[in-house]
Amino acid sequence: MVQKTKKTPMMEQYEAMKAKYPDAFLFFRLGDFYELFNDDALKAAQLLEITLTSRNKNAENPIPMCGVPYHAAGDYIRQLIRLGYKVAIAEQMEDPKQAKGMVRREVIRLITPGTYLEEGSQQRNNYICSLLQSKSGYALAHSDLGTGELQVTQLTSLESLLTEFAQLQPSELVVETEPDEDFLDKLKRLADFTLSVYSPDPAAIEDQDQLLTAIEGADERAALTLLLAYVQATQFQMVDHWQEAEHYEVDHYLHLDHYAKRNLELTESIRTRQQANSLLAFLNQTRTAMGSRLLRQWLDRPLIIAADIERRQNCVADLMDQYFVRLEIQEQLKGVYDLERLVAKISMGSVNARELLQLKQSLAKVPAIVHNLQLLLAEDEDRQAHWQGVLESLTALPEVVDLIDRAIDPDANVQITEGDIIRDGFNDQLDHYRDAMRHGKAWIAKLQADERERTGIKSLKVGYNKVFGYYIEVTKANLHLLDDLEENNYERKQTLANAERYITPELKEMERTLLEAEDKSIDLEYQLFIQVRDQVKAYKQDLQALAKSVASLDVLQSFAQISEDYQFVRPEISLDDRNLEIIDSRHPVVEAVIGKDQFVPNSIEMDDKTNVLLITGPNMSGKSTYMRQLALIVIMAQMGCDVPAKSAKMPIFDQIFTRIGAADDLISGQSTFMVEMLEANQAIQYATDRSLLLFDEIGRGTSTYDGIALAQAILEYLHDHLEAKLLFSTHYHELTSLEDSLPGLRNIHVGASEKDGELVFLHKIFPGPADRSYGIHVAKLAGMPKSLLANADRILKDLQASHGEDQGEQLSLFSVAETSPRAEDPTATWVMDQLDQVDLNDTTPMQAFELLRKLVAKVEGGD
Ligand code: ADP
Ligand code: MG
Repeated sequence: MVQKTKKTPMMEQYEAMKAKYPDAFLFFRLGDFYELFNDDALKAAQLLEITLTSRNKNAENPIPMCGVPYHAAGDYIRQLIRLGYKVAIAEQMEDPKQAKGMVRREVIRLITPGTYLEEGSQQRNNYICSLLQSKSGYALAHSDLGTGELQVTQLTSLESLLTEFAQLQPSELVVETEPDEDFLDKLKRLADFTLSVYSPDPAAIEDQDQLLTAIEGADERAALTLLLAYVQATQFQMVDHWQEAEHYEVDHYLHLDHYAKRNLELTESIRTRQQANSLLAFLNQTRTAMGSRLLRQWLDRPLIIAADIERRQNCVADLMDQYFVRLEIQEQLKGVYDLERLVAKISMGSVNARELLQLKQSLAKVPAIVHNLQLLLAEDEDRQAHWQGVLESLTALPEVVDLIDRAIDPDANVQITEGDIIRDGFNDQLDHYRDAMRHGKAWIAKLQADERERTGIKSLKVGYNKVFGYYIEVTKANLHLLDDLEENNYERKQTLANAERYITPELKEMERTLLEAEDKSIDLEYQLFIQVRDQVKAYKQDLQALAKSVASLDVLQSFAQISEDYQFVRPEISLDDRNLEIIDSRHPVVEAVIGKDQFVPNSIEMDDKTNVLLITGPNMSGKSTYMRQLALIVIMAQMGCDVPAKSAKMPIFDQIFTRIGAADDLISGQSTFMVEMLEANQAIQYATDRSLLLFDEIGRGTSTYDGIALAQAILEYLHDHLEAKLLFSTHYHELTSLEDSLPGLRNIHVGASEKDGELVFLHKIFPGPADRSYGIHVAKLAGMPKSLLANADRILKDLQASHGEDQGEQLSLFSVAETSPRAEDPTATWVMDQLDQVDLNDTTPMQAFELLRKLVAKVEGGD
């Protein structure tokens, strides 16, 4: 901080404000700029790459300062918000020209990452969360201010809180008291959010009661109240597009913890952390922003109740049935703007006339959408039942369309304070002003023509500027033609280098009428706009319900489109039947990437007595792909989407646990093996008979015997204690003999064949264990030196011989525990490797000689 010296009154005003918003950048309005001072200025100059200057440059302690022009402030604010900062906007509350003494300033808005409406990625929700900790656990509320949704849940364990938090990915978290560091660290690892500590003012709270009628839990109500009060305090106004708060239970949905979500690449790829190549990106054929947000919500929360899943499946089937109807619906959806955000803007008073036109255009699409849906449902009662919920709120609101149509000029100005937004004929008074203006302009045109005629000066013109108003201008060269100035009431007003400007009393009078009409009409247009906006606002609930229906329809048509494009089938799901039978299934994302002809379909079959599939096969053959494929198919099925297979029958799962890949949890600094064990333990602790478990090569991160022992113990434990379905891939061939002792376990393997000593991956699943490990072949593919590979092959044969291959026991290459003595001469090996690396086509005689010299020296040197 800058040392305190004598401060100007303005700096005192600034510092008093800044003290109230210590964690925000204070944008302090000074004329046409927002200025930042002191630490804010130092930091902002760097973050925003703007010039740092100072106030009182010559004083002992100049004050660091930087500024942004007020009309361009939006971009700078966006940058800061994206970086997770807050911005407080202090405006001048009176005209500086008229102020006596200091201009009064007030903070009129606090912009925070979770309440930022201007931009908000339209493709996904921008959530603000509030959290309340108590003896009974955690109450977590969340909202997207852009849509007004309010949801709350109670979580009993830290684990489930973290999972839910990771899923919501809030940009801001509001709490009443600063959480302890350890806890905060855990949250920070899961999402990029800004923490706001806030104590609500009890007076502000009561107003919100009607939003909470459906919420029973005291903690949940308190969490919601905190959130509502915080938003209200930052916006400095009532937010009245809130939808009634809803309570939800996380275990009413298919549960995936954050490890599983990441491993399965549901919303982003592990490597790039981008949405590309995720299941979400693959499934997204939505045509509206609302649909795209809802798709993500459905993916975050797949269903577990058969009837709910079937309802979606039925709708998808209906849409698939009629290609042209679906096409027509998609076409209409494309023209629907983001209704949810438009409603929010209308409520918050930040909507402009163009956006009202967007609302009108969107509503105008609704009748055609309804008409097409009706075609789909014509005389089919079953179908009518499927779509009842969606159809109910698909109302075109003709009154709103009509109002906007009558009121708003199709070419309306973006600014709402500069006129040119209201249509002619909408308001008599406005028409009257406009008539006066038109009349006045015609009068002026006539004046110009008349004066030209009278004086004979062809270049005489009547002009206007802001400072002098209307004038008659005559060039110096023509002045001699104006001989009777007084007689014609010409009064000199301004002298230019080569012209004189005059006014007449009549022109002055007309100017007054004109300007008054213009001023009044602009004011009136603004008022009329506000009236129209408020009239539209009265329909906010209908509009919100409409938005929801449009979003559902959009996601359902997206499912239908995907299903048709990739030839998916409708899965048969059942709560009681434990048979899983997915014939010729594919991994949707891998298939889309490598091409349909390249992907080898595989069946996944587990009858009600088979709970464990033990998968062996060479590296890179497709074990991991096969396991993920099942998880994705389950998730898609429980979202209500069709699945990539020839046919599919499966039980409904309650949870999916994964232990996949060697993804080190770098951020948390945990080793691979620790992550493996944590993930495995999640499953062991929390899985039920209805869960799906994927364990991919567990035990890799420790020594061989350790690894085998743990893997076998985990297999036996899960086999004996749970009916859950488990896919377990392993490179420990020893484990395949468990099939004899564990009746619920079945061996399968991914086939590979050898051709001319080269490994050919078939990517095809076969029954039974793999016959060998192929590790050496993969090493060969990786280009390891030939002598090394030959040596590995020899060691493997030794090991197999000493363990008795005829007993069917297999050893992995990596399970080498005892080393057999090396038979080869190391010098010979070295020579072989050197020769192996020679490319004769790319060797000069000099290089050949040099190599020969090296070889000879090595052999003679003997070491
Ligand atoms: P593993 O886990 O056995 O080492 P992966 O599942 O990682 O093998 O698969 C390795 C690569 O093989 C994948 O990246 C994919 O390109 C390809 N692959 C896997 N399964 C198939 C399949 N069924 N059809 C075609 N290619 C596949
Ligand atoms: Mg693998």
